[in-house]
Amino acid sequence: MKRRSFLTVAAAGGAAVAASSTFPKPALAQKRIKMVMVSTWPRDFPGLGTGAQRLAKRITAATDGRIQVQYFAAKERVGAFDSFDEVASGKAQAYHAADYYWKGKHPGWAYFTSVPFGLTYTEMNAWIRFGGGQELWDKLAGGFGLKCVMAGNTGVQMGGWFRKEINSVADLKGLKMRIPGLGGDVMAKLGASPVSIPGGQIYENLVSGAIDATEWVGPWNDRFMKFYEAAKYYYYPGFHEPGSMLSFGMNASWWGKLSKNDQIIIAALAAAENDIMMAEYNSKSGSALKSLITDHGVKLRAFNDDIYDAFGKAAEQVFVTVRGHSKLAKEIDDSFRANRSDLAAWSKISDQAYVAQRNRILGI
Ligand code: CA
Repeated sequence: MKRRSFLTVAAAGGAAVAASSTFPKPALAQKRIKMVMVSTWPRDFPGLGTGAQRLAKRITAATDGRIQVQYFAAKERVGAFDSFDEVASGKAQAYHAADYYWKGKHPGWAYFTSVPFGLTYTEMNAWIRFGGGQELWDKLAGGFGLKCVMAGNTGVQMGGWFRKEINSVADLKGLKMRIPGLGGDVMAKLGASPVSIPGGQIYENLVSGAIDATEWVGPWNDRFMKFYEAAKYYYYPGFHEPGSMLSFGMNASWWGKLSKNDQIIIAALAAAENDIMMAEYNSKSGSALKSLITDHGVKLRAFNDDIYDAFGKAAEQVFVTVRGHSKLAKEIDDSFRANRSDLAAWSKISDQAYVAQRNRILGI
């Protein structure tokens, strides 16, 4: 019997008795499951949005439609930043988002996207999978009725778009900049005014002058946003988001009722998206950067060491505040620091040492 016709019979109740001795949860394993998925990204937004949409489609396809994912981009069902409450309350079953958007609910959420002077993509995967990161994420998310897994990454982000050159810390003072997460808190320590607004609203705010500067992601995404029309100076590297991980957050009680095999399918597809999205960002960023410079007159600049030193000092002050928030915040920060120390020592003599020598030979 073909799988589809078996499922049809099972759904009608015909095979339920025969299957009951084999499957512990026949009703749950066989009936259609509805998953309403919301996200913090505009529809079809390259990378973040298309990645979330790909994950939604692949869950439906991999289960032959048994798990029906109904996807809503930002504002199609709820506003971007209402995604958390929509899923925690059970009105929707899942979101695709950057969990640092929820740092107002608990600062621990910031660590599960990216924090200043944090982990790169490969280091983040190591912490989450083998360094105790997932367990702490489960502890934090569980307190809000959520279960989160990795589902995408942008890699190291650019430092942002500025109308004027940033040559000293004094140039940051009074600057109204879109920069979410703990990176925004660091900017505030240096005299800037950070704001957190969803991606879909940044361009209009930058063009109107409501904000002076913005960070977003990297060349591929930022070119699409046309920020170069309002600000020409494009700074690197971003201290604030060195490997932003995206989250597939599910209602914990809904997740708990899924069969083990459905949990494995969903987790595996989210893990695949974590990999696919990163590959796409890496593949498209180099040519997008070239086009920004040659076609749009963008001026590429590096933050100097004095400014970076100030970022580092301010970041440590921010981390002191975060650690003082709660026992769990301190526990997450402790784990992050211990892992960062080991991972950095290894990265230094592996990826970084190799890439530095390769690029020297290639003259890049
Ligand atoms: Ca960003």
